[in-house]
Amino acid sequence: MPTIFTKIINKEIPADIVYETEDVLAFRDINPQAPVHILIIPKIEIPKVTDLKGSEHSELLGKMFDAANVIAEAEGIAETGFRTVFNCGNNAGQEVYHLHLHLLGGRKMNWPPG
Ligand code: AMP
Repeated sequence: MPTIFTKIINKEIPADIVYETEDVLAFRDINPQAPVHILIIPKIEIPKVTDLKGSEHSELLGKMFDAANVIAEAEGIAETGFRTVFNCGNNAGQEVYHLHLHLLGGRKMNWPPG
């Protein structure tokens, strides 16, 4: 089912886009939890991590992490460090059911996460 992220992909609603290829889009989170907080999404609709199949999606996942590394470099957080997170389902607090990789950086992160 399409989510608000499909509207961002289709440029029907605005977003602060920082990276775009044929397969992947990345934009700043509207409610940032760190100085750098960017969401990296596939352009195809995959609701969540449990819908991923290695046989189908490994290349796409590789492209999402390529995006994370390019963006981290551009944002100046590649050397200081950053966190990448996929929230999956209710207990993890997933709100938008279109797969997205959070890229968070620019401050010291705590572990374990809340
Ligand atoms: P999650 O809780 O992992 O599903 O994360 C969803 C994220 O999407 C949250 O961090 C929201 O702040 C973010 N978000 C929701 N709507 C938008 C939007 N229109 N533009 C940018 N980020 C959004």
